[in-house]
Amino acid sequence: MTEIDSNLDKENQKKYYEEKITSSGFKVTKPRDIVISVLSGANKLLTADDIYMEVKNDNPSVGVATVYRTLELLTRLKIVCRIILGSGRSYYMLSRECAKETFTYMICTNCKKIITNNQCLKSAIQVRLRENAEETILKNCKLKIDNYQILFTGLCDDCSS
Ligand SMILES: [Zn+2]
Repeated sequence: MTEIDSNLDKENQKKYYEEKITSSGFKVTKPRDIVISVLSGANKLLTADDIYMEVKNDNPSVGVATVYRTLELLTRLKIVCRIILGSGRSYYMLSRECAKETFTYMICTNCKKIITNNQCLKSAIQVRLRENAEETILKNCKLKIDNYQILFTGLCDDCSS
């Protein structure tokens, strides 16, 4: 749980994602529902394996292949966004959180935990793209960007004490 999400927000969030699934012509299946709720409760970035471990705890009948397929679909529907960090590993988070603002996260250099959705980190910086940055980048660099990320490294709470 993050400090931003109250239970009410969670209910609204659930409805929002369910609508996105059905309006794309898909059904809200149990695995899709479970994966979304695991992601909405996460206060750090999760790998597909992390998500599978969480899912398995409460729903042993959902297999690893189903979780992977579910993540593929949810990524395609832009419900989940996939973030590929320096190591080449893929991490997942709900796309509303990913797209609405610059994505800020921190990797603990000791335990490798990735912390995100952290208001304290977000409030420590203010970075904005220059006006028309997307167009300028496309024109001058031939790169089509859709978002950018800020990465902090250091020690997490557990490792620094
Ligand atoms: Zn740590």
